[in-house]
Amino acid sequence: PSQLIYGNDGIYRSPRPPLSLPQDPKFSMIPYLFRNLSSISHLPALVDAETGQTSTFSVLRTQVLNFSKALLDLSVSKNDVVLIISPNSLLFPVAFFAVVAIGAIATTANPLYTAAEISKQVKDSDPKLIITIPPLYDKIKHLNLPCIMLTNSTTPSNSNWYNSSDFINKTSLNVLLSDSDFPPVHQDDPAAILYSSGTTGASKGVVLSHKNFIATSMMVTSDQDQAYGEAKNVFLCFLPMFHISGLVAVLFAQLQRGNKVVVMPRYEMEKMLRTIEKYKVSHFFAAPPVIVALAKNQEVVKKYDVSSLREIGSGAAPLGKDVLEECAKVFPQTALYQGYGLTETCGAVSLENAAASSQHSGSTGMLDPGVEARIMDLERMQPLPPLQKGEIWVRGPNVMLGYFKNEKATKETIDDEGWLHTGDLGYFDNEGRIHVVDRLKELIKYKGFQVAPAELEELLLTHPEIKDAAVIGLSDVDAGEVPIAFVVRSSYSSLTEVETKDFIAKQVAPYKRLRKVIFSEEIPKSAAGKILRRELRHRFLSKL
Ligand code: ATP
Ligand code: MG
Repeated sequence: PSQLIYGNDGIYRSPRPPLSLPQDPKFSMIPYLFRNLSSISHLPALVDAETGQTSTFSVLRTQVLNFSKALLDLSVSKNDVVLIISPNSLLFPVAFFAVVAIGAIATTANPLYTAAEISKQVKDSDPKLIITIPPLYDKIKHLNLPCIMLTNSTTPSNSNWYNSSDFINKTSLNVLLSDSDFPPVHQDDPAAILYSSGTTGASKGVVLSHKNFIATSMMVTSDQDQAYGEAKNVFLCFLPMFHISGLVAVLFAQLQRGNKVVVMPRYEMEKMLRTIEKYKVSHFFAAPPVIVALAKNQEVVKKYDVSSLREIGSGAAPLGKDVLEECAKVFPQTALYQGYGLTETCGAVSLENAAASSQHSGSTGMLDPGVEARIMDLERMQPLPPLQKGEIWVRGPNVMLGYFKNEKATKETIDDEGWLHTGDLGYFDNEGRIHVVDRLKELIKYKGFQVAPAELEELLLTHPEIKDAAVIGLSDVDAGEVPIAFVVRSSYSSLTEVETKDFIAKQVAPYKRLRKVIFSEEIPKSAAGKILRRELRHRFLSKL
């Protein structure tokens, strides 16, 4: 199979069936989202896990159009930026779809951001209006921008803001709206500016087009379409909707397919398990911390009936094969698999085919349909065949338009042939699956040898007394850099630094050995599930 996937031109191609993107350039995200409305209008689209409140597809569409109309009335026009800052809720997708329906551009922010962090994003993206929830008003009021509150409250709008409840449930929709009320929207128009997670530095505004969203939604659901046909799946969404993973892979991709999305504001293990049982959830996507927690708390999982679950997907950060297998033990009827993507690729690059294989490879699976890749040797600038490691480059209809108002960064990231240089180190195996080793920037250079933190973290997590772990490089006069670990022990454990170092030393080459182990209460992670290594480094240095 490797021959089919790896061409003579040094390009890897997807073995999945090709994408057939809608040809009409005016078929933008919202018409695409509701293209099958007549057959699914009565089905539930969104369900609030807590209250059980449900919106059908037809209600969702009415709310989106009413919200769009309100935006037009507030003189938001095509290409204006609108900031959405809200936790996951039934109204979040309504707001997001309404913004993109009129050709405006949505930028989303983490509701946990401080006023200063929000200001920074506002300065960069220059929004015309803010959509938020009343408890966050204090953090945005200094910006002096018009504001819509996502709320079910029936108290009237006040002098500071408009309530979404005032307009979204109007039923006189057809009288109010005709096609000519809406600016024409093209597939190549920008739909969103999503800020990357900022794991390696300041986060960048990634401009994604309507086409990026449509293509990605087809990529993400391609295997489901093959495996389950028209069956209606129930997706649980606790991944943040402000991040690419929750917004595209769950919300847009699953709703366009007519699947039901059960919404939770955030991940909490027992609440999640209870929700799976109650709503007979068939699928959820998560980040590695969730998979690790489930693997390490099997007695908790066993208290719930999770037999409805068919698939659990993990992405956003590296996850070891052993942890995946450990987690699979408590979900015997469920396929567990990994996917790989970036904000810059609208969340998609590769995905394991859950239906096709029951064995875990530790890979992130084969390329999504329509995606091409190269593995580049950066020293000799040469594409590499299977089993050789290099920088992962990708090309396809899911690759961003560019970084917002940052030509220089765009040019450095997307080359003249359209290849996006991901900054990730990886390789293809002989079965055509991508293995993401780590970020190039995170590699620890020990006397010229490379140590990938992800490899050591994966090993540490296989220790039964280790609940969580993170590895960083520290400068060292002799070696350049040395790997050190932060380790969270189980409550009963008395594991020592020497024992932890030995546990790793027995399994790796001498240059990869841990030079120091620091026991901690927790490992700082971002909302998207990434280890905040900068914070760990800061913590360590400030204790010296
Ligand atoms: P920034 O670019 O601002 O520093 P970020 O790269 O963390 O932040 P995202 O776009 O959210 O922002 O994350 C994409 C990155 O996440 C990828 O480049 C890769 O390093 C990592 N990643 C995603 N999925 C996986 C996976 N399955 N295995 C390993 N790493 C992954
Ligand atoms: Mg990145």
